[in-house]
Amino acid sequence: MPVRLVIFGRQGAGKGTQCLELSSHYGAPHISTGDMLRAAAAEGTPLGLEAKAIMEQGGLLPDEVILGVVEERLAQPDVEESGFLLDGFPRTVPQAEALVAKVDIDIAIDLSVPEDVVRERMLGRAREDDTPEAIDKRLALYAAETVPVIDFFDGLDLLVVVDGLGSPGEVTARLVAAIDERLAERA
Ligand code: ADP
Repeated sequence: MPVRLVIFGRQGAGKGTQCLELSSHYGAPHISTGDMLRAAAAEGTPLGLEAKAIMEQGGLLPDEVILGVVEERLAQPDVEESGFLLDGFPRTVPQAEALVAKVDIDIAIDLSVPEDVVRERMLGRAREDDTPEAIDKRLALYAAETVPVIDFFDGLDLLVVVDGLGSPGEVTARLVAAIDERLAERA
């Protein structure tokens, strides 16, 4: 049975790790727009060149550009068969509206970890771009950008908030329980 899910989470929430786990658990492709754009940038395609310039400035690609990329990916046969885990998309309300007009979404998950915890995690891994100022800026941007999109899915009764605190295994178990419950309601 295909699972069609959208996942949100702050940087440092463990979304990347959990997407890998969920993708293998459900056999559904993990579709990360950030990964797709970085791959296109590395290949130097016209899309990649446009994306690279925008990513370097910390901006967002125009909705119609990213929508084209996502629609093309969602038209692939593996999606038809197994569904998808969308990560990094939708990022704006118009993107979310376009998505739900095209496909039925089973569940939107907010992988929730308090801001002070992700701040500590990011400072702990101490990557060079993880200065306290840069971290605060990214957290503020996430809040401004993503909260309206999360609210959009909440308004459609598709949102489930999953607690992201605990060991990776505990969080995966919670996610699977939430998703299975939703899939059972759908069946
Ligand atoms: P982050 O590094 O913030 O976790 P991603 O890896 O998901 O973000 O994406 C990296 C960059 O790709 C974003 O900063 C943005 O420029 C671009 N991007 C990714 N997804 C989208 C989207 N849905 N709409 C517009 N731009 C996007």
